[in-house]
Amino acid sequence: MNSKCQCPICLSSLENFVENRIKQGYTNEKILQELNVNLDVEIDMNELNNHLNIFGLLENINSDETTENKPIQVELRNIDFSKYEIDVEKPYEVIDFVQKAHLRVYLNQLEITLDAQNKALSGENIGLPPGCMRDLQVAFSILDKSTALSLIINQAQAIKTVESMGLDINNKDYLDLGNV
Ligand SMILES: [Zn+2]
Repeated sequence: MNSKCQCPICLSSLENFVENRIKQGYTNEKILQELNVNLDVEIDMNELNNHLNIFGLLENINSDETTENKPIQVELRNIDFSKYEIDVEKPYEVIDFVQKAHLRVYLNQLEITLDAQNKALSGENIGLPPGCMRDLQVAFSILDKSTALSLIINQAQAIKTVESMGLDINNKDYLDLGNV
C-alpha cells in the first residue's frame, strides 16, 4: 500500500496490519476491537469502513463471501410465553406486563440521562452525549402509549383548574393520584 488517508489507521501506520487482517478473513468487528483494545487506536466502524473503502478492501470482503439471505421463520405457535410468566389468555395480565416492561425501559433511560446530566454538571463531560434527551423522549413516548400517562396527568391538571374556579368534580375517584 503506497498512499494513506487521514484516518487513525493511516496516522498510526497500521494500514498493512489492517490489510493483512482482512486477507486473513477477520471480520470488521474483530479488527475494530483489535484496534481499539489491543492497539489503543481510537477509531469507530464508520472510519474503519471508510478506510477499507478507500483502499478497495470493503468490496473484496463482500464479493469473496457468498452471503445467502435466508428468510426469518416465525413460528407463532412456538413462541415460549412461559418465560414471561404471564397468562396470555388474560388480557389484563398482558397489559400489566407490557406497562411494567415499558416502565422499566423508561426508568433505565431516565437513569442513563440523569447520570449523563450529573457528569455534565460536575464538569466530567462537556454537555450531554448526542441523542441522550431524544432517547429519553422516545422511551417516555413508548411508556405513554401503553399507559396514557400524559393523558392522566393532563386530566388531573384540568380537574385542578376547574376546581380552582370554584366548580366541583364529582366523579374523579378513578384518578386517585393525590396531589398532582
Ligand atoms: Zn486510512
